[in-house]
Amino acid sequence: MTRTNPLQAPSIFWRTLFLGVIFVSCTNYQSGKTSDNLLIKNVILIDGTGINRQIADVRIVGNRIDAIGDLVHAKEEVIDGTGLVLSPGFIDTHSHHDRSLIEYPDAIVLLSQGVTTIVAGQDGGSSIPIARLKEELEDNPPSVNLASYVGHGSIRREVMGSDYMRPATPTEITAMEKLLNQELSTGAMGFSTGLEYDPGIYSETAEVISLARITAEHGKKYSSHMRSEDRDLFGAIEETITIAEQAGVPVHISHIKLAMKSLWGQAEEVLQLLEEARGNGLQVTADLYPYEYWQSTMTVLFPDREFTREAAEFALEELAPPEGILIDRYEPNPSYEGRTLAEISEIRETDPVTTYLALIAESQAAKKAGSGGGESIIGTSMATEDITTLLKWPYTNVASDGSATSRHPRGYGSFSKIFRKYVRETGDLTLEEAVYKMTGLVKETLGLEGRGTLEVGSVADMVLFDPDKFTDRATQEAPQVLSIGVEGVWVNGVRVYKDGLSTGARPGRWIEG
Ligand SMILES: [Zn+2]
Repeated sequence: MTRTNPLQAPSIFWRTLFLGVIFVSCTNYQSGKTSDNLLIKNVILIDGTGINRQIADVRIVGNRIDAIGDLVHAKEEVIDGTGLVLSPGFIDTHSHHDRSLIEYPDAIVLLSQGVTTIVAGQDGGSSIPIARLKEELEDNPPSVNLASYVGHGSIRREVMGSDYMRPATPTEITAMEKLLNQELSTGAMGFSTGLEYDPGIYSETAEVISLARITAEHGKKYSSHMRSEDRDLFGAIEETITIAEQAGVPVHISHIKLAMKSLWGQAEEVLQLLEEARGNGLQVTADLYPYEYWQSTMTVLFPDREFTREAAEFALEELAPPEGILIDRYEPNPSYEGRTLAEISEIRETDPVTTYLALIAESQAAKKAGSGGGESIIGTSMATEDITTLLKWPYTNVASDGSATSRHPRGYGSFSKIFRKYVRETGDLTLEEAVYKMTGLVKETLGLEGRGTLEVGSVADMVLFDPDKFTDRATQEAPQVLSIGVEGVWVNGVRVYKDGLSTGARPGRWIEG
């Protein structure tokens, strides 16, 4: 549970602003530009492979790491890295930041956390065709690199239109396979599903297996927002493993979590299932954001899409309490935004169950009337101990699942929070482990070439940070506050972040899987 209606937003910015992009693209094309040579001296190099830090000098020539060691200054620009860490730029494997890249191409929210590459097209929702997204990025590059999955839900909508509340027919599945095949041939990183969302929720396992097989044929990856993260979490994990095993495809579980009170404390059991699958030869991995609360739609708490009192009572008792449900967006009545369900319940003088059902009904009525029924909520459902256990699994990497515009702080602080909380406060991760979970592990999981580790010859996507100061500041009360402690960020050898500001350079590129 996580997500702000991913099926609508990602492509809309790109599409609506496409014309504007054409006019500025001729003067704004900087993706080929690289910095002059650079030498970073005496830096704490954490290279992303997980091995121990070393003090070294690092020379960058063009867009690549040219040398690492005890280097002699040769007229290039020099940065004194004493006391600072230099690591590969962080890779956000589950991001919704693409939604604001056209409007805010400097992506300061990402740079202030050291993120240099984001992977979009998550939860079954992507731009179609991917080729157009790629073209738009190349015409008007942002400061960071972008990759995208092809979304199952988006493909399903293309093929089934508004008649999607049922299993697909064999003819429709064939049409989806054809479309997926085409999209994977034109630059997508892999295939994503959002089986807890419309329209993916109506698919049968066999449909997903058919599409995952096409993904396997392309040698690409399958990324899954599973069918359940609460009531039927274990069933959903089993379905995910079955899909991947039958299709012969590596699978990455999105934002892994135990989002139900009665599941708390069972993270080890979850990992046991995944370890068994790995033991049987399946490449299964996961990502996670370090917060006890998710963001999603109001309806996600009703997997049968039956909005009964009984289901609502269960949701508010087991999944998220009224004081733990914060309204992020509510188009039928924007004055509710920023308030909890408990508070709205008091305003309306109805009990929380009645209130919740009424809010859903009013949003659905507005949608039907075409007057904007958009909504999203932030729900508190997870236990800190489970997050720690899942984070420490050797195959879990860090992701944000965030965006620049929501009320959930994960978009502004997922990466920096790991250093503050898990490295410095609890000591659950070493600095090297934390960096590995944002870089080298992602390189292995996604099969990236030349990014994710810093070695001679690697692409110079890099972050320079103060290990004592690197900290998130975004909270539930003030979710859109930038992180501090990053001194510099380079993307494809070009400095994009300096003194807490964007340099204005936009060297981001399209990354294929
Ligand atoms: Zn998701």
